[in-house]
Amino acid sequence: MKLQQLIILQKKGPAVVKFFRKFALPHGPIILYTLTMLYIVPTPIGNLQDITLRALDVLKAADAVLCEDTRRTQILLTHFAVSKPTYRYNENDERSIQRCLELLQSGKTCALVSDCGTPCISDPGWKLVRAAVAAGINVSSLPGPSAVACALAGAGITGGAFTFLGFLPRKPGKAAKLMAGAYGLNLPVVLYESPYRVVKMLTLIAKTLGENTPVIVARELSKVYEEWVRGTAQQVAEQFAKKTKVQGEFVIIIDRPCTETEEQDEPDPNF
Ligand code: SAM
Repeated sequence: MKLQQLIILQKKGPAVVKFFRKFALPHGPIILYTLTMLYIVPTPIGNLQDITLRALDVLKAADAVLCEDTRRTQILLTHFAVSKPTYRYNENDERSIQRCLELLQSGKTCALVSDCGTPCISDPGWKLVRAAVAAGINVSSLPGPSAVACALAGAGITGGAFTFLGFLPRKPGKAAKLMAGAYGLNLPVVLYESPYRVVKMLTLIAKTLGENTPVIVARELSKVYEEWVRGTAQQVAEQFAKKTKVQGEFVIIIDRPCTETEEQDEPDPNF
């Protein structure tokens, strides 16, 4: 009787399956039992070198890639010589989510990507993840690039808690209310903003929280023109307003008025 091995590769990922297919088969037939998986795969926020080895592994081994925008993802896949069927998902189109879910339910392991950074962080994807969890499909989330973590690490203002608000609502009244509420927690507040609205947002910060509110603006992280601008909300707003054209991607961090008290404010980890 031939030797049969049953290998349960739950959560080990497609790379392991590939390994076993290649190296273990000569020693006897193997029954590979893999659970279908939805992998959440972060992609670079500007510098293609920031893709992780595991992200590439998963993209190469997945049956399909679920994308926010198939054309943008195709550029990334082509760059890394990955050839996979791509499917678009759209948070506002229930049918597109259903189609992706059906793929998973038919046994296909899928990689979920967004246009940049980590899917579901100020990006679509969470409804699909929610649907997959509800359907009993295994979900695995890969660590990787995200503008919020990158900006906060470079800001040097806290190693502890912060409030992430992502994109604030377009209406100044609503945005000011949310911002003031979050700032009231006495933690740094992190915002995403587009080049078209960054001056308006900095002006709103100055108006709502005070002209002297300290801010750190991280522009074009990981790209050639990466820039960090520190100052008061009023100063930084004026600095960007002077430019003929504001370009790039922005993270705005609103700091607390006085960081010297940080040590006293931080909870004691040994307590
Ligand atoms: N999912 C992404 C993440 O994990 O960071 C965020 C996607 S959101 C649609 C895009 C926003 O993220 C941009 O408008 C900007 O505020 C921020 N962002 C993305 N890439 C950036 C970069 N290289 N430098 C600064 N901010 C960036």
